[in-house]
Amino acid sequence: MLANVPGSIRVARIFGIDINVHFSWIVIFFVVVTNLSESIYPDQFPKWSREKTFVVSAVSATLFFVSVVAHELAHSLVARRFQMTVSSITLFMLGGVASLTREPPSAKAELFMAAAGPLTSIVIGVAGVIIAFAADAAASSVPSATWLQVVSAVAGYVGPINMVVAVFNLVPGFPLDGGRVLRAAIWGITKDRLRATRIAARGGQVFAGILVSVGVAFVFGIGFPQNELQGILYGFIGYFVWNAASSSLQQERLASVVGGAKVGPLMTADFRSTPPGVMVGQIIRDFVLPMNLRAIPVVSGDRLVGLITIADLRKVEQDRWATTPVEQVMTPASELATVSPDDPLGTALERFGGAEVPLLPVVKDGRLIGVLYREAVIGYVRMQEMLAPQGRR
Ligand SMILES: [Zn+2]
Repeated sequence: MLANVPGSIRVARIFGIDINVHFSWIVIFFVVVTNLSESIYPDQFPKWSREKTFVVSAVSATLFFVSVVAHELAHSLVARRFQMTVSSITLFMLGGVASLTREPPSAKAELFMAAAGPLTSIVIGVAGVIIAFAADAAASSVPSATWLQVVSAVAGYVGPINMVVAVFNLVPGFPLDGGRVLRAAIWGITKDRLRATRIAARGGQVFAGILVSVGVAFVFGIGFPQNELQGILYGFIGYFVWNAASSSLQQERLASVVGGAKVGPLMTADFRSTPPGVMVGQIIRDFVLPMNLRAIPVVSGDRLVGLITIADLRKVEQDRWATTPVEQVMTPASELATVSPDDPLGTALERFGGAEVPLLPVVKDGRLIGVLYREAVIGYVRMQEMLAPQGRR
């Protein structure tokens, strides 16, 4: 699960979760519409006009899009039940990505969260297939009701494609849902999370290898009818799966390097903070520019109420700098990942995760006592790696 995927735009907000669309998904949407309106529907319903075929294709593609959102929302709502915050869902090539600010707290939480998406796709898929059959049967007894053909066409596409989404996502390799299910299962049985991650990530790499091979086979027409576009698409998906699987392996390896180290000794106790009422302009003038600070904790007394980052500040137009208080644009504490000084460094690494925050607030008994800079952790890891005897890992 990635944090903000670059190159995406927000299209909606449901249950307080931003729904973003990545540009690759816009391409996919057009590919789906073209495929439906140029070949699938004309074959099935040759009597339809071009306009009608196109409109029905667009409706089908939109419903496909909506069902992928439903799949991601299912993950997100289950994640919330287990106290994981989901800030956004991004639809891109592989389907969707729900951004979590922290990793699942238990194997059970991960299992339910991962399974919720494919289950939703299966439910939509079965419903679609049943509707398509019913509409088909009705259409053959009432041939004059042409709208039944439309229902059958749309449901006959949306149903099976959701089945495909479910099956693809259930492949037991990280970062796919099936990989998370596998990791949760191994984690639950062996209580060894690192090992579970390693196995699931290896599964993802194997799957990526298969996807790339199929892509190559398509490009050169080996065992498949030659189709360069299809081949490139497989290659892209394989590349993405490989990267995601490798980065989770990397993270796991990092966690094993930091071993038993704690957050406390690496945190900075002498740090700058600001009250929530201070204006954005003053923050930029007094902190950001002269001290080159990229993130500043926002505190009320010694309580952490939020974090303001360069990205937050950039959202404010310059002519509003003098009148916009920090609290209006900061990320509130409820959505922030924090650590305690007694947390293992591995936990901190996880909370940094894919998010672009340069620091984590260190909180003890509700009080902000320090900040942990990303650079400090990276420096520590480098040092450990340099000092580690060869072949220890
Ligand atoms: Zn999923």
